Amino acid sequence: NLADVPREKLSPMMQQYAATKEKYSDCIVFFRLGDFYEMFFEDAILVSRELELTLTGKECGLEERAPMCGVPYHSVELYLKRLVDKGYKIAICEQMTDPALSKGLVERDVIRIVTPGTLIESSMLEDDSNNYICTLYYGNDGSCALCFADLSTGEMSLTVPQEASDLSVRIMDVLSRYMPAELVMNSQALSLKSVMDFIKVRLQCAVSLRDDICFDPVQNRELVCQQFGVPSLDLLGMTEDGADVSAVCGMLDYIRETQKRNIARFVSIEVADSASAMGLDLNARRNLELTETIRNKERKGSLLWLLDDARTAMGKRLLKTWLEQPLVQPVKIMARLDAVDAFVKKSLVLMEVRDLLNNVYDLERLMTRVIYQKATPRDLKSLSMTAQQLPELKAQLRQLAGDSRLLATLEQQISPLERVCTLVENAIVDDPPITLKDGGVIRDGFHEELDRQRHIMNGGTQIIDEILQREKERTGIKGLKIGYNRVFGYYLEVTRSYYDLIPSDYIRKQTLANSERFITEELKNVENEILGAKDRVLRLEEGIFSEVRDCLAAMLKKVQETAAAVAQVDVLASFANVAIENDYTKPEIAVDGSIQITGGRHPVVERMLTEEMFVPNDTYLDTKAQRMLMITGPNMAGKSTYMRQVALITLMAQIGSFVPAEYAKISVVDKIFTRIGASDDLTAGQSTFMVEMKEVSDILNYATKNSLVILDEVGRGTSTLDGVSIARAVAEYISSRKIGCKTLFATHYHELLDLEQEIDGVKNYSVAVKKHGDTIRFLRKIVPGGVDDSYGIAVAKLAGLPDQVVKRAKELLAEMEAQTAVSAPKQTAQTGQISFAAMQQERAIATLQKTHLAELSDAECRELLADLTSMLS
Ligand code: ADP
Repeated sequence: NLADVPREKLSPMMQQYAATKEKYSDCIVFFRLGDFYEMFFEDAILVSRELELTLTGKECGLEERAPMCGVPYHSVELYLKRLVDKGYKIAICEQMTDPALSKGLVERDVIRIVTPGTLIESSMLEDDSNNYICTLYYGNDGSCALCFADLSTGEMSLTVPQEASDLSVRIMDVLSRYMPAELVMNSQALSLKSVMDFIKVRLQCAVSLRDDICFDPVQNRELVCQQFGVPSLDLLGMTEDGADVSAVCGMLDYIRETQKRNIARFVSIEVADSASAMGLDLNARRNLELTETIRNKERKGSLLWLLDDARTAMGKRLLKTWLEQPLVQPVKIMARLDAVDAFVKKSLVLMEVRDLLNNVYDLERLMTRVIYQKATPRDLKSLSMTAQQLPELKAQLRQLAGDSRLLATLEQQISPLERVCTLVENAIVDDPPITLKDGGVIRDGFHEELDRQRHIMNGGTQIIDEILQREKERTGIKGLKIGYNRVFGYYLEVTRSYYDLIPSDYIRKQTLANSERFITEELKNVENEILGAKDRVLRLEEGIFSEVRDCLAAMLKKVQETAAAVAQVDVLASFANVAIENDYTKPEIAVDGSIQITGGRHPVVERMLTEEMFVPNDTYLDTKAQRMLMITGPNMAGKSTYMRQVALITLMAQIGSFVPAEYAKISVVDKIFTRIGASDDLTAGQSTFMVEMKEVSDILNYATKNSLVILDEVGRGTSTLDGVSIARAVAEYISSRKIGCKTLFATHYHELLDLEQEIDGVKNYSVAVKKHGDTIRFLRKIVPGGVDDSYGIAVAKLAGLPDQVVKRAKELLAEMEAQTAVSAPKQTAQTGQISFAAMQQERAIATLQKTHLAELSDAECRELLADLTSMLS
């Protein structure tokens, strides 16, 4: 261990390393040595294990060699990415002086700390998602704020959870929405126990504690104002010394600390009211499969996968953001829907716009590289290529301005960026090399001095050719060649057969197996001139390039605004395209609290079905007479598909997308809750039942009258009697006036069917199945009335359980039914039976309607009759 080593015994370089490591003790130090970054002592052991690198040793002044491992500098990003993914922070310690020029020890310093939440390299990031860092500040007075930033796109936002009563829940909702890669907080935040558990178990992101001083507004207030170019904080919607400004100060401080350079990239901050988005906790996000599937955490099969047809990386990121925070203000929702509608109605414009967007690059991340002086010549070309699309894009959007106020505004916000285009096109050659280092980047005619030096440089090459010709003639060495290497520059090479012709003024530099290399006085002089010019050309090119880059950096604000508007256009156009391709309709947005859907489909399931056709279903929910739908039906009938479909259609409408239905009228919901299936919280060492009950208790505590709740089989994790009792009590509580929100409740407990008669807002529905003898066929239709047969044995048979087992199960069932009939002759209340009878009639009618008598054999006819009789008896 480095800490136990007597410092003065270490070699000078190791002392330098030890000092650095001491300063950055919470980081792995990547110590630059020539072409490698090396790690020593415990860092070396850790990294060699994590990255499977060979552990070697290095002389360090002590008797034993210090453990060491290293990575080549040119592929360092690869290794950084793997460490960062594992949650480590890495301090990059560079050589600050040229080793060739420095006497003694090379100066070294940490130039940046790479952390999971502060990445800017494209190679370490995904194009289509943001990478957020979060600062969480919790004050002694119970106030709290969260600041989020994406360093790669320059996005920064602030959320202040208002309601003190459910502060922790609010915080968890916000964290679920952003899923930060890294979280920085003050020590007081540790007292938010449930939030800390949530971060550890569910978010699993890197966490750093920082001293209160880092969040101190008195120290940093000025800086915040400067950063966002305002004279006072209230103009940003912040207080002078509340939790809000503390969270932002903590963020700026951390970014400065890790990036070690100016943070000009952030030009604005969005202050979001936590109540301006739909409340969705992590369970709802997972269960509704918004961005990944539950089963294998894949994007394919998620709502995002279905809805994302954006053309640009910026659009893809924004679409994900919209999906993760559905709106709750009807006006804003309608503005988006009108914009999508405008695109759908003028599909030619839509096609043009999407074509143009195909050539739009990631302006946000390009500008980050410009600001951080990492942009390459090709990056600048991408900027200009993008700028070239903008005038036409604006022209196309103007055609829709009359139909959509939002599109009209966005058109205004897009700047044509002519200056970006002219500057880059004048300065940079058409097909520039990847890097600056070999030159050939700046266009001829852009810079007078550069042109002059280039002339000398090219002239020089010509002179070299002349010398070669002249020397060949003078010496008679026909095979004479001219070459160049780094060690002794230009040389003449003579092969063995000509050795006797070598003149005396040739100065021997190197002897190879079959040739010798020489220089001459003349060659040296010309070389100096050429190299001088070459050097000057390179240096000039570099200078000009950074000037051009800085010019572009100065246009940041305008480019950023344009990028934001283009991204929105891209998302709206994507929604329109998806709507056209999948035959979606524009939902009406209502405020009466009802949700009405005719011919609704589950957007993802309908796309995944290959053999069957998806069967559309209707939905009616309101806040009064039909608040809770109690849904019964056998396993696999389609209950949970139906419930999710209602939630997804509502959510899609609230992000501004068209919906899979013939008609839909949606009243905005403030939160969606789900309690479906097993959760993956089991890692936390809790039983399935415990997790289930916790989720239910969250719903009961935090759902409001305006929420939408989906409950699938509540109470299944315990004994039947317990389960029924809990399920019923939960249903009573939610459906009663205490909450009274719109609820879809799927259950196997037919005892719950009685609630229809007891509570106003409850209505029984079931998923229809067709029974044929002892087999069933799923009709996928939601019909009024409950069923008290779960057809478990029929479904088991369908699944291929051996006949013998099925037969035995039937016998057992019959026995038990006989017993309960004796002991409890009246299980279902009278009222429940009425609705059941009505349902049976409907089923009989439905069965008849679907029957083609001509196709049935005599035996089948008899069976059908028997079925009908049993339904109607
Ligand atoms: P349950 O929740 O009743 O057990 P699911 O909702 O999981 O049943 O549905 C089972 C399967 O039935 C789904 O995976 C889907 O393939 C199919 N399905 C469900 N609803 C429909 C429908 N409306 N149209 C066509 N197929 C459906």
